Amino acid sequence: MSDVYGGVETGGTWCVCALGTGPDNVRDCEEFPTTTPAETLERIVEFFAKRPAPAAIGIGSFGPVDVDPASPTWGHVTTTPKPGWQHAAVAPVLRDRLDVPVAFDTDVNAAALGEHRWGAGCDRDCLCYLTVGTGIGAGLLIDGAPLRGLVHSEAGHMLIPHDRSRDPFAGVCPSHGDCWEGLASGTAMAERWRRPPKDLPDDHPAWALEAEYLALGILGIVYVVSPHRVIVGGGVMQRASLLPMVRRRFRELLAGYLDAALLNDGIEDYLVPPALGDRAGVLGAFALATTIT
Ligand code: ZN
Repeated sequence: MSDVYGGVETGGTWCVCALGTGPDNVRDCEEFPTTTPAETLERIVEFFAKRPAPAAIGIGSFGPVDVDPASPTWGHVTTTPKPGWQHAAVAPVLRDRLDVPVAFDTDVNAAALGEHRWGAGCDRDCLCYLTVGTGIGAGLLIDGAPLRGLVHSEAGHMLIPHDRSRDPFAGVCPSHGDCWEGLASGTAMAERWRRPPKDLPDDHPAWALEAEYLALGILGIVYVVSPHRVIVGGGVMQRASLLPMVRRRFRELLAGYLDAALLNDGIEDYLVPPALGDRAGVLGAFALATTIT
């Protein structure tokens, strides 16, 4: 059997393909824009077809997706607003075209697996990986494995308090308007303030509002799931001053309610940035591939 794994991260904007076994052994990696399903899948097939066949391929995909192996539409993207991708088959196409076993999950669950195996989530079996970028997504591991329920977590679309006197912005989510992603994604920030988040100075009120929304959403996740650690990544979090503001606001909102040191004085060790940076997703796809071999 081959001693390498394939990793695929199909993000809403970029697609990453890699061959290897982990962060210290990425033998080949290629990145290209996510365009139509047909064109994108063809490029993924091409990447693997001209290299030694991996033992298995892990795919972390933007969602929502069907992750139920017993479902006839397993491995499909489902109700995404991304044009052309509604009900697109991803995993079955790659499995059949490349004739290798394929594991399939959300991009954020894959990233959570990567951080759990090699990064900021080592030894933390109940783990949340949150990404705040174009959208908001949360990968959740329970006992070191992605949380499986009726579908998968879509924490980015939970409703959070929205004080319209402070923030009259209606939100950008095409399905819900002012859900968490609708209010606090990078897309929401760019529309609300009419410029990309990276162009907003540190002292702009945008950041205090962003910290408020992120703290509210994370608090909801902590109350429901009680993860051992929350890893917070994504493009919006590139702003170095933001995570400390989120930690501070999180503690204020928690108001000492849970008596856990990590949620209070240990907060810097609880809400942390990813250790694998923007490679968490594709490395996590390797980890995902190992679950089926
Ligand atoms: Zn939504």
